[in-house]
Amino acid sequence: MLIVIVCFFGTLMPSQGAEWKVGIAKIIITPEVPIQLVGYSGRKDPFSNVDIDIYAKALAFEDKQGHRGIIVTVDLVGVQDIFFGPVCNRVMKETGLSRAQIMLNASHNHTGPLMSLNPDLKGNIAHAPFNEAEAFRIIDYTKNLQEKIYQLMIASLNNLQPAKLSWGTDHVNFPMNRRMKSPGGSIHMAPNPNGPVDRIVPVLKVTGTNGKIRAILFGCACHNTGLTGDHNVITGDYAGYAQEQLEKRYPGAIALFKSGCGADANPQPRTNISGVRKLGADLANAVTRVLQTEMRPIHGELKFAFQMADLPLKKLTRDQLKTYKGTVALMTTQMLKVLDSGGTLPTKYSAPIAAWSFGNDLTIVAFPTETVSEYAINLRAKYPDEPLWVSGYNNDLFGYIPTAKIVREGGHETIGVTTWLWGTDLKNQVGLFSENVEKVMMDRASELIKELNNKPSD
Ligand SMILES: [Zn+2]
Repeated sequence: MLIVIVCFFGTLMPSQGAEWKVGIAKIIITPEVPIQLVGYSGRKDPFSNVDIDIYAKALAFEDKQGHRGIIVTVDLVGVQDIFFGPVCNRVMKETGLSRAQIMLNASHNHTGPLMSLNPDLKGNIAHAPFNEAEAFRIIDYTKNLQEKIYQLMIASLNNLQPAKLSWGTDHVNFPMNRRMKSPGGSIHMAPNPNGPVDRIVPVLKVTGTNGKIRAILFGCACHNTGLTGDHNVITGDYAGYAQEQLEKRYPGAIALFKSGCGADANPQPRTNISGVRKLGADLANAVTRVLQTEMRPIHGELKFAFQMADLPLKKLTRDQLKTYKGTVALMTTQMLKVLDSGGTLPTKYSAPIAAWSFGNDLTIVAFPTETVSEYAINLRAKYPDEPLWVSGYNNDLFGYIPTAKIVREGGHETIGVTTWLWGTDLKNQVGLFSENVEKVMMDRASELIKELNNKPSD
């Protein structure tokens, strides 16, 4: 039997006139038997131990008009549509919610379990090779996880309680750009203090009618990789320790981590468990500073906008594909495989981009997958008067989305569509994003923001 913890804390007062109702639930998603972790290829064995449990958590919102939406956060590498899409469909069928009303976000944890539904998936750059028995253990975990996420979402909706919402921001210093130019002009992965990075820490507070904090949704735009591949242990990395510390500081409350656009950022320093606990404390301290200030009250109504955007891929010949080096060559090798088997290369990848507005007080933009920091920086610059929270790693994980400049420069963040890492069929699931991907992403996000504001698109 699955145990979903629901939180009624702080809801003892009468509910008349409450502007919001919020339902809260969380569930442990730590594997019950050791399985392979994901994020680094060097870890040969299933994980050795669990330092802290990993969780899936949900916040269900309902405004005065009855508009409802669920935000789900998970201490996992991603929310790949291949695994989470069917769960959303099941919830939509049962509840009548649309896909726009469900926002999934992963912490991009690199000390969490590999997910797969494909018995042929047995090793690549995201994880070390393993045998058939291990492949089936991972499939069992993934199916069980799907059931847990479904139960979690339903539990949050069944647990709506009167609440007040408010939000604010602070910042944290450990995120560091990781794209360094070598003297020859190529890009390698190393801390780059001069590169762009988004250090803002947004915080949404859910308070019960008795004034107690019930939930804290907070973000940070940085790879959740305080621990390198030398650590074969389950944790939630810095995001997990930050959640743990906040839940200790605010007993009865649930802390949920929502990733930002940190695809080109790594935490500094990257050391060991005690070091990553310190990163978590830094982030928890930033969140606490926000909670101790006068936060902006959030009024309704709750509105949703959602698009499947066609992200453009480069048109490349066989000869051009053979010129790529480094991790990008792993991608182009997959593309050559498609051509060798008589297939054609796709020209676009269809990706979910979403935005939610909470009245005039908060707009959450949910970019998919590994989106680099300048998407958040540039979108906020484009809409300086809009109360924006720009997040990444939402609703699908299919590789990095670079800016046009990053496409021109090259480097790991130009690796393109990598759903093959999760055992997806190669057909229509390969390609390197073209420079125009930046314009498409920014235009689609602008359309969603304008749709929420009832303004015509450009
Ligand atoms: Zn990543």
